Amino acid sequence: MAALKAADTALRERPCDHESHPYASHDGADDTYLTEQLSLLADDAADGEDDRARSEWRCPHNAAGFARIAMDIVEPGSVRDVPPRLPVEATNTIDTLAALLHGYPKPWTDIDEEISSQAWNLSTADPEDRAGHLLIVRAVTWYAVSGMVRAKSVLDDLVDALERTLPHYADASCGHERHATLPDSGPDAAELGVVLSSSGGRAVYARDQRAGRTPPLESVLCPVFMTEIAEESLRVLRERREELFGARDTSHADAEYLRADGRLEIERIVERLDYKSWNEQYAYDLGLWAARRYEQADERGRPVLLLTACQAMKISYPDPPPSVVRGVLATMRAVAAAPRPLECAHEDEHPTLQYADFGSGLPHFYAPEEFSPAGEPHSREAWTCPNFAAAVAEECVRDLENAELDEDED
Ligand SMILES: [Zn+2]
Ligand SMILES: [Zn+2]
Ligand SMILES: [Zn+2]
Repeated sequence: MAALKAADTALRERPCDHESHPYASHDGADDTYLTEQLSLLADDAADGEDDRARSEWRCPHNAAGFARIAMDIVEPGSVRDVPPRLPVEATNTIDTLAALLHGYPKPWTDIDEEISSQAWNLSTADPEDRAGHLLIVRAVTWYAVSGMVRAKSVLDDLVDALERTLPHYADASCGHERHATLPDSGPDAAELGVVLSSSGGRAVYARDQRAGRTPPLESVLCPVFMTEIAEESLRVLRERREELFGARDTSHADAEYLRADGRLEIERIVERLDYKSWNEQYAYDLGLWAARRYEQADERGRPVLLLTACQAMKISYPDPPPSVVRGVLATMRAVAAAPRPLECAHEDEHPTLQYADFGSGLPHFYAPEEFSPAGEPHSREAWTCPNFAAAVAEECVRDLENAELDEDED
């Protein structure tokens, strides 16, 4: 910085009669071409530059201008009179968040830590940078509530940051008829937030805005608008935090999966266990509901509920949230630990644990008077055998524990 400052001071007042200098239009996008440009300038015989351009490049004013650009790179905001540019750190953050929010985080990114650090940046932001940081939090919130984030603390950090932010906008008012339309893809939304969270970035935004490419800055950064955004993100976070990590309420599932007489809606249950993407929306609650009901079920209900809980975990996407895993694991571990006979009391094989096989046999086992058997049915004793129940439970415990282990390794 000392050398650059000395160069700028020594060169900027030298007389010249140029109307303009290349530094005045040099922005971040031009950096890549600078070395190539300089080798042409050093060589009087080289093609590609006329004499006027050469003399503007070599002018002391221009050298002073580039010294100030370099100072702006080292210490963003430390000089005026240079084209606006994004701080290097902001460019890196945009790349990191874009990769993460596209679902392909850089190998060195700790996802939980990255999202939590954006919450922290919002809590500690200077007033002029706050709106930009809020827009970053808006973008990472969508990812945080998607089910891909397994740590409740990440959602807590985001909630906390938003709760601290709202009072800053408590007195907001505005005369806008409408506010800007913000990007609705995570990477674009995050990039906008990063750009607006530094003075250099806001200057770049204002320049592009004058070129008519984006909505005016004041309609994006309006405090009333920011309040709406903070409240919306907070609402989504609180709701999803409860769904993902709270004591999940499955009582509504009774109406769907029980008949008036208390028996299972076996056909609907079996349908919803198939590997179909539209079944994912039911899987968490169906699995947890079945696991919670297991203990109180009768002899025919138990194998159905056990297989239902196990299969629902298999078709879950993304992996089931901690609230569901906890409840299902509790039942499965108890079943796996229950006493069982050394030898089975039936002659035939157990049903297999493949949905394609047990799915077709289950309705007949549960309600033989209603559903005719598909192929050669397994005996009632094979379905209700404690050894079969233990095998189902052990497989489910293994799957769920492996999924959690994979998370830890990420
Ligand atoms: Zn000059
Ligand atoms: Zn407004
Ligand atoms: Zn058996």
